[in-house]
Amino acid sequence: AVPLVVAKSTAQSAKNGLLIKNRTAFENARKITTLVFDKTGTLTVGKFEVSKVVSYQSDLNEHAILRFASALEQNSEHPIATGIIQKVKDLQIDIPKTQNFNAITGKGVEADVEGKHIKVVSPGYLKENKLDLPSEQESDESSTVVFVLIDEVPIGHIALADIIRPESADAIRKLQDHDIKSILLTGDNNKVAASVAEKLGMNSFFAEVLPHQKLEKIKELQTRGEYVAMTGDGVNDAPALAQADVGIAVGSGSDIAAETAGIVLVNSNPKDVVNLILFGKATYRKMI
Ligand code: ADP
Ligand code: MG
Repeated sequence: AVPLVVAKSTAQSAKNGLLIKNRTAFENARKITTLVFDKTGTLTVGKFEVSKVVSYQSDLNEHAILRFASALEQNSEHPIATGIIQKVKDLQIDIPKTQNFNAITGKGVEADVEGKHIKVVSPGYLKENKLDLPSEQESDESSTVVFVLIDEVPIGHIALADIIRPESADAIRKLQDHDIKSILLTGDNNKVAASVAEKLGMNSFFAEVLPHQKLEKIKELQTRGEYVAMTGDGVNDAPALAQADVGIAVGSGSDIAAETAGIVLVNSNPKDVVNLILFGKATYRKMI
């Protein structure tokens, strides 16, 4: 039987933006020493706007880069995809059809467009596959950047900007008040990650993290004796959410993440995580 205080607290938390799927997760929440956050959609609003488009090729203009990218992104639900599609609609560019669409989990998307094999990928993908940009191109890292490739050759990039959620700074501060460390773990580039982590006063950050590395990072923290909670939304976050002592899926994310996690953050609000921890502490204090 579920003790009455726990049953009440669990019902209460549903009203507070949390869906507690198993009681162990709630019970463990009070032991958390480190909270690992993914960035997009939890600490940030998760609404990307295209801020710049650059073509590396003289025979392709910015519209052509956007057009290829949009063809792939019409098949994706990633916030980056939504931002690119919005821009293309604003510019009234026609979106071509694709064949053989494939999501490269945590790295980007690929498909065939007008007989060409196109990819839209993260900086981490370029590094992993040792793909260089044309020498005159510097990769602008002050915003989120995705690269457009034809047959593994980078032909341009799209820069996008997202904004930090107004609640995030307060949530991180509250965690610190309770001696809980906060760490940012993201597939996005170093500068963006550093800027978000610094603005929010987080303890550290890991950027350009590929999906399998998310799991490794969680294990590493656990080996150091940390009791780790992690928030995530993507399919690529599921293994790490399962490895964490407390897995917290962000409401708007994938079903797989929600299935794996013990707790679902219904409104994607980082403050609800803080309340969960404090709430867990209070609940189990009552029972002793
Ligand atoms: P985060 O760790 O910030 O939640 P994801 O793991 O979802 O990010 O994605 C990591 C990176 O992979 C993104 O920053 C982006 O560069 C790339 N990516 C993922 N999905 C897409 C997509 N649909 N279009 C373009 N790039 C994508
Ligand atoms: Mg994600």
